[in-house]
Amino acid sequence: MSGARLTCLRGGRVHDPVHGVDGEVRDLWLRGGRLVEPAPGEPADTTIDLSGCIVMAGGIDLHTHIGGGKMNLARLLLPELQRHADGDPCRHVAPGAIETGWRYVEMGYTAAFEPAMVAANARQTHMELGDTPVLDHGAYVMLGNDEMLLRRLAEGAGPEEIRDLIAWTLHATKAMGVKVVNPAGISAFKFDQRRLDVDEPHRHWQVTPRQVLQSLAQGLQALGVPHPLHIHASNLGVAGNIDSTLATIDALEGLPAHLTHVQFHAYGREGPKKFSSAARALVEALDARPQLSVDVGQILFGQTVTASGDTMRQFANAGLASPRKSVFSDIECEAGCGVVPFRYRESSFVNALQWAIGLEIFLQAKDPWQVVLTTDHPNGGPFTSYPHLIRLLCDRDFRDAQLARLHPEVAQQCALKDIRRELTLQEVAIMTRAGPARLLGLRDRGHLGTGAVADIAVYRDDPLDRERMFTTPEWVFKDGAVVARQGRRATEPGQEPVGGTFFVVPDIDPDIGRALRRRHARWGTVNPDHLEIGCDELCACGRGGRLLPVECFAGREGGTA
Ligand SMILES: [Zn+2]
Ligand SMILES: [Zn+2]
Repeated sequence: MSGARLTCLRGGRVHDPVHGVDGEVRDLWLRGGRLVEPAPGEPADTTIDLSGCIVMAGGIDLHTHIGGGKMNLARLLLPELQRHADGDPCRHVAPGAIETGWRYVEMGYTAAFEPAMVAANARQTHMELGDTPVLDHGAYVMLGNDEMLLRRLAEGAGPEEIRDLIAWTLHATKAMGVKVVNPAGISAFKFDQRRLDVDEPHRHWQVTPRQVLQSLAQGLQALGVPHPLHIHASNLGVAGNIDSTLATIDALEGLPAHLTHVQFHAYGREGPKKFSSAARALVEALDARPQLSVDVGQILFGQTVTASGDTMRQFANAGLASPRKSVFSDIECEAGCGVVPFRYRESSFVNALQWAIGLEIFLQAKDPWQVVLTTDHPNGGPFTSYPHLIRLLCDRDFRDAQLARLHPEVAQQCALKDIRRELTLQEVAIMTRAGPARLLGLRDRGHLGTGAVADIAVYRDDPLDRERMFTTPEWVFKDGAVVARQGRRATEPGQEPVGGTFFVVPDIDPDIGRALRRRHARWGTVNPDHLEIGCDELCACGRGGRLLPVECFAGREGGTA
């Protein structure tokens, strides 16, 4: 505990979009791990001079694959990447939990969310996140390809039953939300279907992705889970998939939702190579629907590994693996997974256009509150490339110089060369902390108002090189304690704070447990007696870090505010 000591952060330029503070010089006061309003004339025990610095809340990554089975498979598949020297970007493609936590903290991030937790593997996911130092964390549980949901939809289950199934799954796995990956498609792949469009029935269950999307989005809204359905849409990576992305949006019928790694879902079929940018169509759909949000899943050039629950699409891409090896797994009646190493190349037309499409989405969307900065770590590139991505978005000359190095046809085929917009620091603050906090329902994070948790990143202002600025923050505070200085960890091993675990607390029907346990005993992967994680056990998984339950507001109005 930092006790009652009062610290003053003096004279920094504060970017706090939640409170409309846009680069004004303000003093911030911290006590007991929170931002406070000191009594008039009360002296600070410690004062830190932040003149010349930019002050933001700690970064929040709402979609990064840092826990659960897939990343362990990726590490097994690619031991050579673990050997790279410090400073080599390949080192961060599939880092272990300890390296992951520190690299995030050293960049000014203080919370991260694993988006693809398999229910049967929830315990391991929470333990791996618990091994990740300093960061607060949480996970979204996957539904929509599990035998139980598809079977009950096929048998005509009503919305209340689906709602209760979602509630019980969230409760049992201590999840922060629900992610659907290629709705019904991972299951269809097990029945030898190699693609599944939004209105195409699953060969065995005769259920369509549209039905799965609607039932999950409705159920989450009925439960009042703050983060709406987190959607990895159908046909990831396929030329012309903008049609399925727009059909997915249409299937939601106005319900709130978050579409993830949309760069991989915004492809047209035009031009000489039958592969084109559909960023404009995606952005128009987003601009017209304030209840929707996206994260981009930007690609960046170089070596990475793609790791996804979408076995169907990963299997289709296995021929492109570099190095040439891959691993797939059917996770019994529940899920799937595929790991395919990949190298994005500047000289490749497709890769260069993917790069441009991601940037077009960031730069064309009207409302930054609807757009979250991600690379879908490690799928589009490691999270350690965020500072480079921020410079691409904030510095048009830098971006144009990069565009000129790419496959020559790309500049002709896309709108990027004509986009003049440069994101402001305020917009960066929205896309990297204020927006994700709001989308997840985290009321005391992502802003710098009185009472907020003192998770704070302080960057030395550098208008000429935003990459350097965001790579090495001057100071990073977690719960009011200094955890990094000048881009380097600042605690002795064993002294670092332990992150907390976020999870939602939905109302559950006391009777549903019994019926579900019966079904789980028959079709589940794990003995139902072992599936449910209690709060004491969750605390142990998180190495004693704080439990951070997030309330649900059943019956709330739609929308993201
Ligand atoms: Zn995904
Ligand atoms: Zn992902």
